Amino acid sequence: MNLGEVPVRANILSAGDQLLVDGVLAGQRRALAKAITLIESTRPDHQQRAQQVLNAILPSTGKAIRIGISGVPGAGKSTFIEALGVWLIEQGKKLAVLAVDPSSSVSGGSILGDKTRMELLSQREEAFIRPSPSSGSLGGVAEKSREALLLCEASGYDVIIIETVGVGQSETTVAGMVDMFCLLQLPNAGDDLQAIKKGIVEIADMVIINKADIDRQATAVVRAQWRNALHMLRPASPNWAPPVITLSALHKEGIAEFWEQVEKYQAALKSTGEFDAKRQHQALSWMWQLIDSGLRQYFRHHPRVQENLPAFTRSVEEGHTTPAAAAYALLDYLKH
Ligand code: GDP
Repeated sequence: MNLGEVPVRANILSAGDQLLVDGVLAGQRRALAKAITLIESTRPDHQQRAQQVLNAILPSTGKAIRIGISGVPGAGKSTFIEALGVWLIEQGKKLAVLAVDPSSSVSGGSILGDKTRMELLSQREEAFIRPSPSSGSLGGVAEKSREALLLCEASGYDVIIIETVGVGQSETTVAGMVDMFCLLQLPNAGDDLQAIKKGIVEIADMVIINKADIDRQATAVVRAQWRNALHMLRPASPNWAPPVITLSALHKEGIAEFWEQVEKYQAALKSTGEFDAKRQHQALSWMWQLIDSGLRQYFRHHPRVQENLPAFTRSVEEGHTTPAAAAYALLDYLKH
């Protein structure tokens, strides 16, 4: 088979969905919101339509810069994103803000989702803000955010910000879907050590210390600590040493410096080909994640697996069968 002959499912859009695609591509916010609702739906017929819509918009994706911003509740994420957003709009850019909120996937309640956040920005035509889908596993929520990101890109947004709360797995998940991953920190001594323990320093492309206005001296000390922490580690990219910047989101100080670093980062990675390579790697790893979860689901729904799983489970629990023997025997059912 030649390259380019990949047997993709026929992409037949209904007239309604074609209108939706046209609306997204024309930058209509209502169409974009509707398309995101479609991809967030768990109904199988909606999911199928959503994939067709995504296939149709795919050639128009890829032009935005995708930035991840993570921080604990109260670090100032929404204050920062609002200040950044208003500044970017002044520079003639359009931005979309999406959330990956692990709390919403667990409890249905959300840390990031309430509508009163980013009040100024949400009134601007040039900004599109979408809270996290409130159901599904973190993996499921993240998958929807990846797809929403593609829709926003196709709709002409120049900057896509993916916001997440700094708990659990969500940082790694978000780092895996953005070009640049930023940690928003408070000027607290010792937070660098926490981040090292959690393994998130390695995935940071920039560390931002917010609320510098509260205590400038303490902020300078914490900045030095972060610089040391980053020096101790091998940088994720050979072409980029993650900077540590300080800012005050509340007083809108340091926003231009932040953006300067984003542009430097983009230039450094683009000139070496690393930018595109990273996106290719992310797309493939997304494909494999979907294959893995699809296989798992297929396995669990297989009639013979369903029939025999309880007996194998008991047998492993009681020590009569080894986990490996049980796993191989169960996997064997898939062959028949
Ligand atoms: P989030 O939970 O990370 O989104 O944090 P918020 O943006 O809601 O901010 C939490 C609180 O910190 C709010 O009361 C903000 O006004 C305040 N805050 C945010 N940025 C700054 C800052 O740069 N300086 C000061 N002094 N307060 C800030």
